[in-house]
Amino acid sequence: MKVLVLGRGMAALAIIEKLTAKRSLPSFKALEITCVGPEFISPFDSCAVNSTALVALMGVEQGISPLGDLLYESYFDCLNFLRKKNPMGVCQVNRKHFSWDKEKMVRRFGESISQVRDLITFEEKAHIFYPPVFLSWWQESLTRFGNIRWCSDIVSAVENGIAYGLKDSYEYDFCFDARGSGIKDHCEIKENFKVVPGHFLEWDYKEENGNSWVMTIDGHNLIYHHHFSKLILGGSSEKTEVRAPCLEDLKEQISSFVKLDKKWSKILDIRKATIKTGLRTKASKRMPFLKFQKKNHLLIGGFYKNGYTLCFPVADMAITKFKESMAEERM
Ligand SMILES: Cc1cc2nc3c(=O)[nH]c(=O)nc-3n(C[C@H](O)[C@H](O)[C@H](O)COP(=O)(O)OP(=O)(O)OC[C@H]3O[C@@H](n4cnc5c(N)ncnc54)[C@H](O)[C@@H]3O)c2cc1C
Repeated sequence: MKVLVLGRGMAALAIIEKLTAKRSLPSFKALEITCVGPEFISPFDSCAVNSTALVALMGVEQGISPLGDLLYESYFDCLNFLRKKNPMGVCQVNRKHFSWDKEKMVRRFGESISQVRDLITFEEKAHIFYPPVFLSWWQESLTRFGNIRWCSDIVSAVENGIAYGLKDSYEYDFCFDARGSGIKDHCEIKENFKVVPGHFLEWDYKEENGNSWVMTIDGHNLIYHHHFSKLILGGSSEKTEVRAPCLEDLKEQISSFVKLDKKWSKILDIRKATIKTGLRTKASKRMPFLKFQKKNHLLIGGFYKNGYTLCFPVADMAITKFKESMAEERM
């Protein structure tokens, strides 16, 4: 059976991870998996590459909202993946939250916050991903475990068992369409689907004594990747779909780190930064979507700010839908 996966972001790779893991099941033995999407070095509409890629629980609890429940589950799914696979480009860090707004901190983290004068702090465990290294590692590791054909191409129309790319066309019996913001161009999912650009700043930066860390002020992150000598600030969120960087927002974030410690005024020099932009997809109630465009063409996305965790449970849901659809076909 020909299975086509469109895209090479978190959604696509998590689906391939689950497909190859389940290959031992009799019905999965005969899968021919083809993945079509631009390579990671090409920034073409890939949010996963242009992401600050931080994973932490952030005070999320179960039993409050369906999204909260899903985020909670996906956080632990992601930890399981990290424990089992020990991927490259990921580092566990101590994340320190700071705020001058006590009420907000209590609402998010409960009473286990600390206070020194008017500054409130909270510490939690977090994982930081360095996307170019992590995504390349993931693709290589999937190649080792399964017989997957990777095609560097951009697909436009997907219809009647064929996806039409610029270089070639690709036949499928079932298509997982995980083209991120690219889905909007080609598929019937225009309602309740917004592309939300996010910008962040990156500097070359090295500290003498070598540990990665994260500091967060009122939800805004400053991330230090020691192994890759990178300092990352952001990201911002645009209200509209305008792609131009919202520099005012980022400048404000810099000011709050300078307020905490003056040393950042020299280091966080906006003129020396590389500006990066990722296109997030936001669907109804910030929930991810799994929607059949046709009975063998499943659209997956809407991960918004949490693609590095949501991809895991959503990939499981996508595989379930695939199995159901195949079972219907056989009847
Ligand atoms: C600034 C910023 C900060 C973020 N921070 C975090 C964070 O801290 N933690 C977290 O969990 N998430 C974070 N996110 C969100 C996270 O990065 C996304 O949710 C996730 O990357 C989305 O994954 P995806 O696979 O759905 O989409 P994408 O990563 O966009 O993947 C889509 C894929 O499809 C390909 N594609 C597009 N069009 C076509 C086409 N026509 N044909 C073939 N291929 C195509 C693209 O090249 C890409 O490979 C952040 C995002 C941004 C922008």
